[in-house]
Amino acid sequence: MNDSSHSKNTTGLIHHPYTPPGGFQAPQPGVFKASTVYFPTVADMRQREWKDKSGYTYGLHGTPTTYLLEEKLCTLEGGDQCLLVPSGLAALTTVALALLQTGDELLLPDNVYGPNKAFAEVELRHFGITHQVYDAMDPDDLSRKITERTRLVWLEAPGSVSMEFCDLPELVRRCQARGVWSALDNTWGAGLAFQPFDLLGQAAQGGTALAVDISAHALTKYPSGGGDVLMGSIVTRDPALHMKIKLCHMRLGLGVAANDAETVLRSLPSMALRYQAHDATARRLAKWWQVQAQCAQLLHPAFAGAPGHAHWQALCDAAPGTGLAAGLFSVLIDARYSQAQVDAFCNGLKLFKIGFSWGGPVSLVVPYDLASLRKRPSAHLVPGSLVRFSIGLESAHDLLLDLNQAMQAHLPAA
Ligand SMILES: *Cc1c(COP(=O)(O)O)cnc(C)c1O
Repeated sequence: MNDSSHSKNTTGLIHHPYTPPGGFQAPQPGVFKASTVYFPTVADMRQREWKDKSGYTYGLHGTPTTYLLEEKLCTLEGGDQCLLVPSGLAALTTVALALLQTGDELLLPDNVYGPNKAFAEVELRHFGITHQVYDAMDPDDLSRKITERTRLVWLEAPGSVSMEFCDLPELVRRCQARGVWSALDNTWGAGLAFQPFDLLGQAAQGGTALAVDISAHALTKYPSGGGDVLMGSIVTRDPALHMKIKLCHMRLGLGVAANDAETVLRSLPSMALRYQAHDATARRLAKWWQVQAQCAQLLHPAFAGAPGHAHWQALCDAAPGTGLAAGLFSVLIDARYSQAQVDAFCNGLKLFKIGFSWGGPVSLVVPYDLASLRKRPSAHLVPGSLVRFSIGLESAHDLLLDLNQAMQAHLPAA
């Protein structure tokens, strides 16, 4: 290869003169990938601002793809600023790292997403940040545990695995009354079942909103919708609070891959329809469980008798009969069945796969040892073996047949 043809095949391919015409418009916004971003001049490089989306400085600080996803997530959750992180768990840990320092205390509900508690027990403790666990179903317990060292309170509605629905507006009021940040893990509500920045719908009517300070969301679940992307978001409505978290996020070097951001952008337009479909099928299945003798207790917040049902009604079902819930519920299988029988039931399901997470097209089942997840026994739960179902997009009829066959084979009626 002589020198000039080599130059055509290397430099020529790298610095190619062709620029496609502008103005391309199509349903999907395209995928912009970059570590390096060019500046026309040194002066421009020195002037360009990375913090306010006025331009581009480095891939980690944002691309057209990530900016658009952030803006759409603000719309979804009713917030003003958004940060993207590589997982839902990273959203929870980034909030804590950004807002807490040595000597501070964090409060977590006992039914919080488990790894959030584990992070407080190990990493935060190593940094000299203490935590206490409060009973999400008792606002007075939260008030009692807020001290002058408390800076941040995590909220979750409903709680993980046991699905009890707290009085979220009241817990937020208790935080506000004591001047501590309230951060909601909003993965279940997903911006659809209720509005985290307008919990009582007052802002929608021109009033003052009752709002959490921070909404963290595992986009891994419904926004992805495919069981194939891990991502999280941190949405706020306060520019100063956002900037505090954003600067920590930048220093930690957190970012998301362009193709993953594109996958979530591709899924967002169908999210509300999928959420409704997951919800409708989950309620049909939960209704079936409710009348089975094998079911000691149904844990689905939209069902009368489930712990916190009235709080779900107040927050999500203000116009009765229209309320939404995620396609997720748990069942306490009667204590007369052994764990081995319950495990065999889970193994015997054919359409339901055994696996963590939720929000994708495939229905999932996981037996949980509830006692190992909680600091204190839950008085509102009857004894039994807990099984959590995450309902996919299969036909409800087929899922019911599957439940029936596994039940008959492994959990015989007395
Ligand atoms: C799944 C989940 C998370 C964590 O999300 P990942 O993307 O799996 O890290 C956090 N909170 C809740 C409530 C979740 O369901």
